[in-house]
Amino acid sequence: ILEVNNVKKSFGTLEVLKQITFEIERNDVIAIIGPSGSGKSTMLRSLIHLEEIDEGSIIVDGNPMVQDGVYSKPSELKKITSKMGMVFQHFNLFPHLTVVENIELSPKLTKKIPVKQLREKSLELLKKVGLSEKADVFPASLSGGQKQRVAIARALMMEPDILLFDEPTSALDPELTGEVLQVMKDLATEQMTMVVVTHEMGFAKEVANKVIFMDDGKIVEAGTPSEVIENPKIDRTRAFLQRSL
Ligand code: ATP
Ligand code: MG
Repeated sequence: ILEVNNVKKSFGTLEVLKQITFEIERNDVIAIIGPSGSGKSTMLRSLIHLEEIDEGSIIVDGNPMVQDGVYSKPSELKKITSKMGMVFQHFNLFPHLTVVENIELSPKLTKKIPVKQLREKSLELLKKVGLSEKADVFPASLSGGQKQRVAIARALMMEPDILLFDEPTSALDPELTGEVLQVMKDLATEQMTMVVVTHEMGFAKEVANKVIFMDDGKIVEAGTPSEVIENPKIDRTRAFLQRSL
């Protein structure tokens, strides 16, 4: 469903992605792990065109977002990125909109669908993330875990083919990470295709079918969770995992 080929990116003189190649297949749950500064967020942001790469290709469902460093035209890019949703570490909810308004904003603006037609679906998604009773409150009155579940419902509202998560539980108190991971686990069970940058090794082991270990802008090791997390072949992976236990 998504191919990443020989992707390179620099910020100024700093090479952040060095020849990244991997593939996302439909129904994959891919965990991306690795030390701070290894390029995980930059990689994820590039997939949804929040960053532009310098070289290489990103092909979504056979349609090039960027081929050999040349981006497709804006209308094409819009079509391609509309198939993806992203959930950030810091939720990024609009404080002046209620929960349900936050969820409906994007389809209202980009697809010009009247709120009346959106309401049934937004309430259904709130139910799915266990927040039916919070539809009309403002984000400030929610816990971090609840905010993140709203952010997931908001991403689902656009009916994405692929959901990207950048450390969705890193900003949460430990006792709140479980409820967010559970929602993600439910999505995986429903065959949602997901790419998750995470430090949660338990989640990676239990839910992901592929794990990618990045270090210094490169994919150092990739495979099943049992290959990469339980039996790493590369010293750098082993050292990282030992530190993150
Ligand atoms: P973390 O685990 O801390 O989130 P990461 O693996 O997500 O790290 P990135 O955020 O992708 O790493 O950053 C990779 C490198 O690129 C870092 O050295 C970072 O300082 C640098 N970098 C990221 N964004 C920018 C930017 N907009 N301008 C300049 N340098 C950047
Ligand atoms: Mg990051």
